[in-house]
Amino acid sequence: MRYQGREVDIEGRVRLVMESALTARDRVGVQDFVLLENYNSEAAFIENLRRRFGENLIYTYIGSVLVSVNPYKELEIYSKQQMERYRGVSFYEISPHIYALSDNTYRAMRTERKDQCILISGESGAGKTEASKKILLYYAVTCPTNDQMPALGERLLQSNPVLEAFGNAKTFRNDNSSRFGKYMDVQFDFRGAPDDLLTTLGLERNPQSYQYLVKGNCPRLSSVKEEVQKLLNIIASVLHLGNTQFGEGEEGETYITTETKITNLTKLLGVDGSALGEALTHKKLTAKGEEMITPLSFEQAVSARDALAKAVYGRTFTWLVEKINQSLALKEEIYHSGKGCSVIGLLDIYGFEWETVQYFDNKIICDLIEEKHKGIISILDEECLRPGETCDVSFLEKMEDTLGGHPHFVTHKLANGKTRRVMSREEFRLLHYAGEVNYNVNGFLDKNNDLLNRNLKEVMCQSDNQILSHCFRKEEAIDQKRPEMAATQFKNSLTKLMEILMSKEPSYVRCIKPNDAKQPGRFDEVLVRHQVKYLGLMENLRVRRAGFAYRRRFEAFLQRYKPLCPETWPNWHGRLSDGVSTLVNHLGYKAEEYKLGRSKIFIRFPKTLFNTEDALEA
Ligand code: ATP
Ligand code: MG
Repeated sequence: MRYQGREVDIEGRVRLVMESALTARDRVGVQDFVLLENYNSEAAFIENLRRRFGENLIYTYIGSVLVSVNPYKELEIYSKQQMERYRGVSFYEISPHIYALSDNTYRAMRTERKDQCILISGESGAGKTEASKKILLYYAVTCPTNDQMPALGERLLQSNPVLEAFGNAKTFRNDNSSRFGKYMDVQFDFRGAPDDLLTTLGLERNPQSYQYLVKGNCPRLSSVKEEVQKLLNIIASVLHLGNTQFGEGEEGETYITTETKITNLTKLLGVDGSALGEALTHKKLTAKGEEMITPLSFEQAVSARDALAKAVYGRTFTWLVEKINQSLALKEEIYHSGKGCSVIGLLDIYGFEWETVQYFDNKIICDLIEEKHKGIISILDEECLRPGETCDVSFLEKMEDTLGGHPHFVTHKLANGKTRRVMSREEFRLLHYAGEVNYNVNGFLDKNNDLLNRNLKEVMCQSDNQILSHCFRKEEAIDQKRPEMAATQFKNSLTKLMEILMSKEPSYVRCIKPNDAKQPGRFDEVLVRHQVKYLGLMENLRVRRAGFAYRRRFEAFLQRYKPLCPETWPNWHGRLSDGVSTLVNHLGYKAEEYKLGRSKIFIRFPKTLFNTEDALEA
C-alpha cells in the first residue's frame, strides 16, 4: 500500500507459530475479537465466545462494540466496587464490561461535547433490557454531578418497574419480555452550578413550593392514592371485559350473558351501564347524513369487546408513559436551563431487529414493506380503507397481485399458477436478513384498523375516571376523519426515532441468547451461530480488523525499532510481548493507536508507523 510515497507492509509474510503451552488466554479466549488470529473464521469466533461464557466472562469486544451473552444467572460483576474500577479507565486496560462502555460513552460526551446514544440489539431474551438497566445504574451511581441533585438516571431506573409491570409480558422466549420499545435520554449537566442557575431563575430547590409541580409531579400522598386507585380500576376492568360473554338470540341478535359482571365493569370504568351494553352489541353508522344503529353479530361483538379492552389498556399505558415523561422532564427543567447539557440516549428495542444492517443491503426488504403505494403497509392501508367486502384474504390477494415475483416475498401461489403445498392460503413469507418469517394474514386488517366502534368511543369519553376521559377524547368520538392506521403510525414513530438517533454518536451493545431453555451454563452453538450471523458480527470484526491493518510480528517489530528505546536496546531478553509494550510505551503510542495480539502488534493508523520510522531515521 502506498502512503506518502512509502511502502507499508500490511501482512507479515511470516508463518504463524503455534504456542504449545495451554496459556490462560487459551482457556478464557481473547477479550477483543480483533485479537483473534483466525479472524475470518466464524468457528473461531464462536469458540472464543463459548470459552469465555464457560468462565462467566459474558462480555467481549469487537473493537468498541460490546458483545454480551446472557448468563441466565446473577453474576457478581455489577457491584459499586466494580463501577469504581471502570471509572475513567481506558477500554483495553481492563476486562470488557457494560460499565466500560457506559463510562467511555460518558467521557466521549464530555470531551467531544457531542450527544451520544447506545443502541442495544439482539433477539428476544438476549438481555437488552437488563443491559439498559445496568447502564442506567452505572450513571445513577457514578454520575450524580452534585450531591443535592437527584440523578436523572436514578429516576429513570425507578420508572422501570412501573413500565415493565404494564408493558412486559411472559412469552415463550422471555419470561419478562418487553412489549414496547423504550428510548431514554439521560441528560447530563457537567457544568455544575445548578444553585447559581436557580438563583438566576429566582427558584427554590424544593419542588413543593410550586403549585404546578405539586399538582403535576409531586402530588400529595392522597392524590397519588386516588390516581393509583383509578389505575387499578382500569386494570380490573380489562380483566372483567375479558370475561364478558355473549349469547345469540333467536333472531340472530347478540346479547350479553354475563349481566352481573357488566355491573361491576361499568362501575370500574365509570361509565353508564346500559350505554356500554348497547355499544358492545350495536354499531352506529352514518349513511347519507343519517345515523343508523345496527346490531352486531356474535363475532363482531366479541371483536368489539376485545378492541375495547385493547384500547383501554393501550391508551392507559400511553398515559402512564406520558406521565412519567412529564415528571422527568419537568423536574429536569428546574435544574437545567436545557442549553449546554449533553445527552446520552439509550435505546432498548423489543425482540426484533429493525435497524438497517450496515453490511447488507436491507433496502430491498425495507422497500418491500414500506415503499409508498406498493409496499406491504400501503397495500394494507388501502385494503382497510377500500369500501365493500375486504378481508384478510383479499389483502393477501392484493399483495400477490402487486408483489408476486418479488425475490423476498413468497406465498402459496407459484409463478406458473400452481400452488406451493407447504404454505397455507392464509400465509405469506418474507425473506428477511435475519431469516425467513411466515406471517399469517388472519387479523391483519382488524389490527391495522382502528377497530373501536364510534359508539364505544362515545361511551368511554364520558367516563368519570379521569385517566379514561383523558385517554378517550370527546373530539375523537365526534371526528369522522380516519385516524392513522396502526402500521403507518408505527412506521412514522420509527422514522422520528431514527432522526433522533442519527443526530447522535452511536455505540453498540449486541446481545446474544445462549440457549432457548433460559438456563445458565448452556451454550447452544447452532442458536449462537445464527445470532452471530444476523447481528453481522463477523462483518463487524472484519471492518474493525481493517482499522488495524498494519500488523507486525513482535520479533520483527522489536528488531526494527529496538534502537529507539534504551530498555530494549541492544537486546531484549524478556517476553517478546513485554518488549513490544515497553517499546511502544517509550514511543508514546496511545491506547487507541495499537493493540497487541498473540504474536503481532496491530497498528491502526499508517501515520503512527511513519512517525516511528522518522524517529529511526533521525
Ligand atoms: P425482549 O426483547 O423479549 O424484551 P430482552 O432482550 O430485553 O428481551 P431481558 O429481559 O433483558 O431480554 O433478559 C431476559 C432475562 O435474562 C432476564 O429477565 C434475566 O433473567 C436474564 N438476564 C439477562 N441479562 C442478564 C445479566 N446480565 N445477568 C443476569 N441475568 C440476565
Ligand atoms: Mg426487553
